[in-house]
Amino acid sequence: MSIRQITAVVALTVGIPLGVTACGAPAPEEPVSTVVAYEGATVITGDGGPPLGGGVLLVDAGVIQEVGLAANVAIPEGATVVDLTGKTVMPTLVDLHGHVGFVDDLSFDNANYTRETIVDQLNRYAYHGVGVIVSLGTDPGELAFTIKADQEAGTLGGARLHTAFRGIARPDAGPGAPTMRSTALGAATEEEAIAVVDEIAATDADFLKIWVDDRGGSVDKLGPDLYRPIIEAAHAHDLRVIAHIFNAEDARDLVDAGVDGFAHLARDVEMDDELVAAIVEHDVFVMPNLAVSERGRNADPPAWVDHPLLAESVSPEVIGRIRESYVSRTPEAAAAGSESFAMMLRSLKKLSDAGARLVFGADTGIQDHIQGYMEHHELALIVEAGISPAKAIQIATSASAEVLGVNTGLLAPGKRADFLVLDANPMYGIENTRQIAAVYLGGEALDREGLRAAW
Ligand SMILES: [Zn+2]
Repeated sequence: MSIRQITAVVALTVGIPLGVTACGAPAPEEPVSTVVAYEGATVITGDGGPPLGGGVLLVDAGVIQEVGLAANVAIPEGATVVDLTGKTVMPTLVDLHGHVGFVDDLSFDNANYTRETIVDQLNRYAYHGVGVIVSLGTDPGELAFTIKADQEAGTLGGARLHTAFRGIARPDAGPGAPTMRSTALGAATEEEAIAVVDEIAATDADFLKIWVDDRGGSVDKLGPDLYRPIIEAAHAHDLRVIAHIFNAEDARDLVDAGVDGFAHLARDVEMDDELVAAIVEHDVFVMPNLAVSERGRNADPPAWVDHPLLAESVSPEVIGRIRESYVSRTPEAAAAGSESFAMMLRSLKKLSDAGARLVFGADTGIQDHIQGYMEHHELALIVEAGISPAKAIQIATSASAEVLGVNTGLLAPGKRADFLVLDANPMYGIENTRQIAAVYLGGEALDREGLRAAW
């Protein structure tokens, strides 16, 4: 990357003291443009369309002014030009499903839930090109809101944190991980359910999360007797409900009950045409959330464990533990996992072909599901389902930003200048989203080297 001033006049003007010229008259003040023009890159705007070869991106004060082919975009006089020839530019990712505050290297514990841990994790997300992360239902207390407010005020960087505050389940039947379980608000009766909806609606939560899962028969599942009034009460507060589900049968009834989104695909059976049609008809958004389930299909450590990007932010001990998790797996278990994962891929392709509203949710921030990195693996798995790289990127950027209602995820005029500069084009291989040369948030280049050094 090189930076040059576009006109020699401006370069000279800023290089000498203003105000005096040879003849003694005041020099006319040359307006120096505050615009930065990124030129020469292949630009993937995030709208799902074909990339622009030799595109230009104009950014002013952290906001995109113009995007287009070089022939159609006039670079203003005095603009700073950044030459990105050979690079690919795409929006930063918007992940609607993560969990912040629990992981600290090998430790996965709610005792880690501090501002320091969360800020570090938001930097890890940003380092990998995730611009927005929604912490989905596991944020006890005010901390996530304080951090969100600090970021909005511009006093704190990193990936922008959004939160569903605490989700709802039957008592002690929330998140699968025991250390996260107490974050859920328990409800055993309709009255209690309405009371906790009111409690959540009184916060700045972006969504309301519910867990509809009996965890293989080990806990009492939130049933329609409670989730129907929960959804109704949430909607009365203009709050959208995202359901964690496992069974297609629950998905079917939740759609009927007016749920707004799913944090997972069904994982017991392939989603049939009728369910897919209902999801499309009710415009329920769906997070494929593939990467966690994909673990089950391998009997040996998969290639993503060896990618150099993983080692940039994660200790060898954590990588060692991830490798070890595959060692004891039998070929039979892997074959069963493979079959079940293939079923999820088929469900996803069906949803995509039917025009369902697909959004991005990688469920990162649980143990050994690495924040920032696994988002890239999730993208690759979406493509493995038979979805084009352009559409997978759209899902992970503009489609998710639209659902969350944030002004990012698309390279278009008026959007926040949140983008990734890649050394290779993901249209020719989705794994290329891992070839990160730079990350810009609000038009500012992230100090990735500084972050890496601190890790
Ligand atoms: Zn989750």
